[in-house]
Order: sequence, then structure tokens, then C-alpha cells
Amino acid sequence: MLKLYGDLHIHSIVSDGALHPSEIVKISKLKSINVISVTDHNTFLGSVIASRYVDKRSQILIYGAEVKTYLGEILLLCPQAIRISYDLSTLVDSCRENNCLLVPSHPYDILRLGIKWGVNLKVWDAVEIFNSSSDPISNIITYILARGLNIPLLANSDAHVGELIGSAFNIIYADGFTVDDVLESIRVGNVTPVMRYSLLGSIYRFSWSLKRTVHGLRKTNLMYDLVSLV
Ligand SMILES: [Zn+2]
Repeated sequence: MLKLYGDLHIHSIVSDGALHPSEIVKISKLKSINVISVTDHNTFLGSVIASRYVDKRSQILIYGAEVKTYLGEILLLCPQAIRISYDLSTLVDSCRENNCLLVPSHPYDILRLGIKWGVNLKVWDAVEIFNSSSDPISNIITYILARGLNIPLLANSDAHVGELIGSAFNIIYADGFTVDDVLESIRVGNVTPVMRYSLLGSIYRFSWSLKRTVHGLRKTNLMYDLVSLV
């Protein structure tokens, strides 16, 4: 059985992150995080672009998006990009059809839009029990209220800057080195969340948020990828 290291919640410049998807691929590799998902807000585009840069011999890219439904935010982790719906039951159906995982992100985050009580619905494949971009109180509340759900638990970075990638991660025990193997391993619970903060990463994240507010989003090189995708 393979022992893999996965950070399944990372943002790129496609939404509000600081990094181009290619940089996320590169930094993950340097940090020996060999399973990643670029989960931009309401789009798979970050993952689609990242897929062009992944070294398939040493890295697995799970196509991801963080979708803001009417209940709150949910991670979609899929073998390929799918059509996004903001209606939960439509989203659940299309995830089942496409072999995706549905994972509430930071469900009890005080400052961000988690699904809160919705975490008790019986539709989730796993729950993000720890998010290293969330504050400690939100993570403690989530841990207390969601760890007994009897579904697999995940820890992710929700990185918007490179320093946070892999700050929290998951040890995934998989039968093979494919996306389907990884998704199945998570589904059946062959996964251990590693819940860690990075002080340095949090400082970089804070300064990125300030810079973004003052200067707007950085979109360098993104147009090249968008044009060449067409
Ligand atoms: Zn996020």
C-alpha cells in the first residue's frame, strides 16, 4: 500500500490566491506533497491549468473547486472537472455520477461561510475537520462538533500563499498511484489528518490579504493559460 501526502484545499490566482497554478504544483513538489487539489472558488479552472504542469510520475492532481452553496462552502474533489451547481441536491447528484467526493470545508468557521449544522446531513464523503487558514477557535469547535460524524476526517491548508501549502495535510494510504485510488482511499477512510498550523504561513497569508485589498489580484501569466486552453 502506498503512503501519500495530500493537501486538498489550495487557492490560486484563478480566484483569490497569490500563486499561479504552476507555482502551486512546483511548491507542493518541493514540499513532498504528492497529492494536491487546486480548489478555487466556484470553478475548476485552477485545477485544469495545474493539470498541465503536474509531473504525473510523482504527483497526483485531483480536480477541485470550493463551491459556495446556499448552505455554505463545500469542496468538490473529482477525477475531472464537472458542471458546478449552487443547489445542493443537484450538486450531490452530479458528484455521485462523476465519482467526486463532497467535503464541507471549515464547517464551523466563525469568519467564513461554513455549512455549520448542515455537516450533519448524510451526503458528505468526508469533512474538513481542520483548516490551517482558520482560527484556532473555529477549528476547536469543528473538532468537537464534527469528529463524531462517522465519516473520514481531512486536514487541509486552504493555502492562498505558497508558505501555507502543506501546513496541514493528510496521510493517504492508497492501493495505487491514481486519482481514483486516492479518492477511494479517502472514501473508505484510509486517511489520517495531520492538523498543524504554520506561524510563518499565517503571517504571509495576512500580508497577502492586505496587499490584495490595496493592489487588487495578481493575474500575471494567467491569460496565457486561458488563451491556450481554448
Ligand atoms: Zn478555501
